Amino acid sequence: MDLKKYITIVPDWPKPGIQFKDITTLMDNGDAYRYATDQIVEYAREREIDLIVGPEARGFIIGCPVAYSLGVGFAPVRKEGKLPREVARVEYGLEYGKDVLTIHKDAIKPGQRVLITDDLLATGGTIEATIKLVQELGGVVAGIAFLIELTYLDGRSKLDDFDILTLMKY
Ligand code: AMP
Repeated sequence: MDLKKYITIVPDWPKPGIQFKDITTLMDNGDAYRYATDQIVEYAREREIDLIVGPEARGFIIGCPVAYSLGVGFAPVRKEGKLPREVARVEYGLEYGKDVLTIHKDAIKPGQRVLITDDLLATGGTIEATIKLVQELGGVVAGIAFLIELTYLDGRSKLDDFDILTLMKY
């Protein structure tokens, strides 16, 4: 299936010069959403994944159906102040300023093989921060899966030590 047919490119959004890749037109097509999910499920099966971890909010959209299909758990990574119990936290750089991601401290058991999911690999900053959280809790990052990779931003160079699946490249 040519998944790119289901991505809508929105020029100059949210600001001039950005070609926004809108995945909602893939998600609202049942066949395309299932096909994309199944590709990631197969990748996860090969890597004997115990747990899926994804950053809010689009990491949930990709990761949760994969977790359901595999019969494994899903642990959310959230912005600061959203999770109610003790968390591990990491600060990461944004274009302007910085942001914080958190995960519940008991979300991962040491040694668990984790698949990280998100919609899109751009600069890689979000996933780099997510990797730090997984590793801090003793998880093994056994794979990282995205729908889309923006190769011109070279996020992959931040993720050299990891196995990455991307279903579409721009
Ligand atoms: P990054 O941390 O730079 O890899 O990107 C973080 C997140 O920003 C991605 O997971 C996307 O959800 C979003 N994002 C960045 N660039 C785009 C884009 N061109 N189109 C759609 N979403 C984007």
